[in-house]
Amino acid sequence: MTDFPLAPGSTIGVLGGGQLGRMLIEAASRLGFDVAVLEREADSPAGRVAAKLIVGAYDDEAALAELAAATGVVTYEFENVPAASVAWLAARGVEVAPGPKALAVAQDRFEEKTFLNAHGAPTVAFAPASTAEEAAQAVAAIGVPALMKTRREGYDGKGQRWVEHLADAAAAFAALGGVPVIVEAACDFVRELSVIAARGRDGETAVYPLAENHHEGGILRRSIAPARADQALSEQAERIAARVLGGLDYVGVIGIELFELADGRLLVNEFAPRVHNSGHWTQDGCEVDQFEQHIRAVAGWPLGPTQAIAQVEMLNLLGDEVDAWPRFAAEPETRIHLYGKRDAKPGRKMGHVNRVKPL
Ligand code: AMP
Repeated sequence: MTDFPLAPGSTIGVLGGGQLGRMLIEAASRLGFDVAVLEREADSPAGRVAAKLIVGAYDDEAALAELAAATGVVTYEFENVPAASVAWLAARGVEVAPGPKALAVAQDRFEEKTFLNAHGAPTVAFAPASTAEEAAQAVAAIGVPALMKTRREGYDGKGQRWVEHLADAAAAFAALGGVPVIVEAACDFVRELSVIAARGRDGETAVYPLAENHHEGGILRRSIAPARADQALSEQAERIAARVLGGLDYVGVIGIELFELADGRLLVNEFAPRVHNSGHWTQDGCEVDQFEQHIRAVAGWPLGPTQAIAQVEMLNLLGDEVDAWPRFAAEPETRIHLYGKRDAKPGRKMGHVNRVKPL
C-alpha cells in the first residue's frame, strides 16, 4: 500500500504518452517526482521526457505489472484507457486516480448523462438506442434536430451526426457504424464554457475560474479565461463541479464542458476524467496550474490556489500552424508550449500558446 502524501523522489505512473502526459511530467518533476509512462508507441510526447518508458498495449498484463512495480500511484492522461486495465491495477493494490468509477462513467455517454442528472447536474434531454428501430424511436422522442453520438469512443467531434428529419434516423445510426448510440436534443447555447476542478484524497475541492471555449469542426481552437461571468454563473459552475466530484468520489483534476443558455442556466455537455485542453490557460494564468494540481491531488498533497493572476487567450496550434512558432516567440506577451510531435498532420494538436495580459 502507498503512504500518502507521496514523498518527493517517488515515481508516479501515467497511462498514455500524449501531450497531457508530457505536461503532467513537467509539473511532477518540479515537485521532485519521477514519472513512468506506459504507452503503445516507442516515440511519444510524454515518453520522450519520462524517467521510465514502458512500451506496450494498455491491456498488456506484463506491461501493467511493470508499471505497478515501478510506481506508488498510477493516473492516466486520456479517458479511453481500458477500464479493465485500471480494474486490474486496482485489484493488485495499486492506487489508481481518478478511480475506476470515474473512468467507467466517462467512457459511456449514456452512463455519463444518467449519472449527471442523478447528481443534480443538468444536461440536454437524451435517449439511448442500440438498433435502427430504437434510434428512430429515440429521435421521435427527443425531436429534431437531434445529435446522435456513439456511446463510446467519440472525441473532438468524431462519432456524431446531426439528424435533421425523423426519416434520417436509421441512416445516421448506420453511418455511425450500427453501434450503441445516444440521441441528444440540440442545445441552443449562447456560449460554450468549461470548468476545471480538482478533488484531493481528503475530499478537499478547488475550482478554477470558467473558461470560454471556441470550437471548429469539433476541435477546440481557442479558450479565453477567466471568462466573463457574474457571481451567479460562477457559483452555478462551482456547484456542478462539487456535485460531480463528490458523486464520483473523485481524486485528481476533472474538465467539465458546459453550455450556457440564454436564461443564464448551465447544462453539462460532458466531463473528462483528466486534465483538459481548455485548462491549458492555467499554466500562465494561475499560480498552480491544472497539471501541478492533478499531481498534488493524486499524490495526496494539499491542493494549490486556483484564482487567476492574469487574463489568458489560449490558442491551439493545429497541424502546420505550429510552423508559426518564430512569430509567437517574438511576441513578448505570448508563452509557447510545444509537444515535440514529429508529424504535423492536419488537425493534429501540435502545441498551444497562451497570450497573457494583466487582469
Ligand atoms: P462533444 O464530443 O460531446 O464534446 O461535442 C463536440 C461539440 O459538439 C461541442 O463542443 C458542441 O459544440 C457540439 N455539441 C455537442 N453536443 C451538442 C448538443 N446536444 N447540442 C448542440 N451542440 C452540441
